[in-house]
Amino acid sequence: MVEQEQIRENLSRVQERITAAAQRAGRRGEEITLIGVSKTHPAEAIRAAYESGLRHFGENRVQEWEGKRAALADLNATWHLVGHLQSNKAARAAGLFHSVDSIDDSGVAQRLQRARGEVTGSPKLRVLLEVRVEEEESKNGVKIEEAGALAEKVAALSHIELVGLMCIPPFLEDVEKVRPYFCRLREVRDSLVREIGRDLPVLSMGMSHDFEVAIEEGATEVRVGAAIFGSRPVK
Ligand SMILES: *Cc1c(COP(=O)(O)O)cnc(C)c1O
Repeated sequence: MVEQEQIRENLSRVQERITAAAQRAGRRGEEITLIGVSKTHPAEAIRAAYESGLRHFGENRVQEWEGKRAALADLNATWHLVGHLQSNKAARAAGLFHSVDSIDDSGVAQRLQRARGEVTGSPKLRVLLEVRVEEEESKNGVKIEEAGALAEKVAALSHIELVGLMCIPPFLEDVEKVRPYFCRLREVRDSLVREIGRDLPVLSMGMSHDFEVAIEEGATEVRVGAAIFGSRPVK
C-alpha cells in the first residue's frame, strides 16, 4: 500500500502540473477538476488522498465501490463512476454515485432515470456521454455520428443532468499523438452544443500520462489514477 506521505506528495505534484498546463493554455488551474481514480486501491488510500485535499474520486466498477464505500461514508466527496456501466448494474449505480461519466447507451440512461426517480428528493444524477474518438469497433463509447441522437434522448430524462462528454483515447507513448483525439472530443462537443441547443460545459479527458495535453486541449476534468495512488498490478 502506498503511504499517506507518498499520496500527499504525488497529489501536490499532479496539482502543480495541472496548474502549469492550464497556464500554458491561458486558463487557470482552478478551472480544472482533478478526479482521483482509486480503482484497485483500498479505502485507506482514498481516505489519505481526501485528507490531503482531494474531493473527487472515480471508480470503474460498481461492485468494487460497493465494497469500499461503507468505510468512507463520513467523507464529503463526490463519487464518479468512470468505467463502463453494464445495464444490469445501472439501478445500483444510480444510488451509489453522484456522477456517471461513461454513458454510451440510451437503455442504460433510462435505467438510471428510473432508479434515480424512485429515490424521492434525490438530486438529478449528473452524467457525461462517453464518445468513441477512435475508429475501433470493439471500444466503448457512442460513435461520433450517433452522439447527437443519444444526447437528445439523455437530455430529455427528468432525473438525469447531462453536462458534457468524456473520452478514453488510445494509450500512446508519445502524448503529442494523443492530442488530436482530445481536440476531436472538443470539436464534437462544440458541434453537439449547436445541434441540441444546450450547454455542455464539461470535458472529461486526460489520464496520468496525458492529462497535461488534455488540459491544453480544453479538459475541464482529468481522471488521474497511477500518478496519485501508485501503479496498479498489471492484469
Ligand atoms: C483507470 C482509469 C483512469 C486512470 O488511469 P491512470 O492511467 O491510472 O491515470 C482514468 N479513466 C478511466 C476510465 C479509468 O478506467
